[in-house]
Amino acid sequence: MAKMYYESDAPITALQGKTVAIVGYGSQGHAHAQNLRDSGIQVKIAELPNTANYKLAVEHGFQPTTIAEAVKGAALIIITLPDEIQSKVYEAEIKPNLTSGQTLGFCHGFNIHFGYIKPANNINVVMIAPKGPGHLVRSEYEKGGGVPCLIAVYQDADKNAKNVALAWANGIGGARAGIIETTFKEETETDLFGEQVVLCGGLTALIKAGFETLVEAGYQPEIAYFECMHEVKLIVDLMYQGGMSYMRYSISNTAEYGDLTRGPRIVTDQTKAEMKKILGEITSGAFAKEWVDEYKGGMKNFNALYQKDYDCKLETVGRTLRKMMKWIKAKEV
Ligand code: NDP
Ligand code: MG
Repeated sequence: MAKMYYESDAPITALQGKTVAIVGYGSQGHAHAQNLRDSGIQVKIAELPNTANYKLAVEHGFQPTTIAEAVKGAALIIITLPDEIQSKVYEAEIKPNLTSGQTLGFCHGFNIHFGYIKPANNINVVMIAPKGPGHLVRSEYEKGGGVPCLIAVYQDADKNAKNVALAWANGIGGARAGIIETTFKEETETDLFGEQVVLCGGLTALIKAGFETLVEAGYQPEIAYFECMHEVKLIVDLMYQGGMSYMRYSISNTAEYGDLTRGPRIVTDQTKAEMKKILGEITSGAFAKEWVDEYKGGMKNFNALYQKDYDCKLETVGRTLRKMMKWIKAKEV
């Protein structure tokens, strides 16, 4: 059984009277900053001047500074920069300002686990990884709840690293939902696997293939959109509440028979073999290297693939349909 921590196991006292620096006011950064402040912790923000997120931080009542300024004197420095730029910013602006006994905090283990950031021995290195997007970390906290978090300690220089991490998780609301103990290795590898194979990569590929099959067979794209994209949420909500059995209890017996007999023909032994191959690329570091090289090479492949999907029929049809669905609060990027 995984070790779990709740509010009484995670006293916020380890951070009381101390300053926390948040480097990057994006999806995770804005949530950690505001939640910690609302929990009574003093927070300093580092953001790039003249950016939208700099302005947002100001709107939220912060006065963002340079990284050097924010890091100075902070007990905990939370790095909420995009993973691919962290090592460069760390070398140039964080490392030169770190002093013995400070704690470096990550929300994902990528750079530490794959060795792109190597902190000195006199620095604590911890992770609090919320299992949800930043905007939910903020909105759940405001409702009095929280998003479950993973906790890991990579380096415990002053024998206080875990207390600092637990206080951080408490301050963002995570202790209300539960904090699960893990390692940087486990978090990094399972997180990458989940997003590639199931949550993002697997799901988008499944939806696209289903949509295209119906449209190529001559069915109306709008009908195909509702069947293969829109309804995914309704089904996933049922599984979220009660697993596969509750979802199957709610759908018709006809749907259930189709599910039980046809599903295994879609995700086959061959699919699972490919999943194992992808896991191997993650654990060997091959994926990490490919991604870092892609970033350094100017993101050409990344941008081309993104644009191709942005313009595909599933997306153009969906954009039009969602404008008519007032209740879903449609978003456009
Ligand atoms: P975002 O891309 O949303 O935010 C990063 C922020 O850093 C942006 O505001 C960006 O500014 C700013 N920034 C970029 N360069 C600098 C710089 N040199 N100095 C100061 N600020 C800078 O990142 P995420 O919140 O998505 O990710 C942060 C971390 O959290 C990552 O490790 C990620 O893996 C992890 N994580 C993210 C989750 C999520 O829901 N997004 C979930 C769990 C973990 P600008 O945009 O103006 O360039
Ligand atoms: Mg994840």
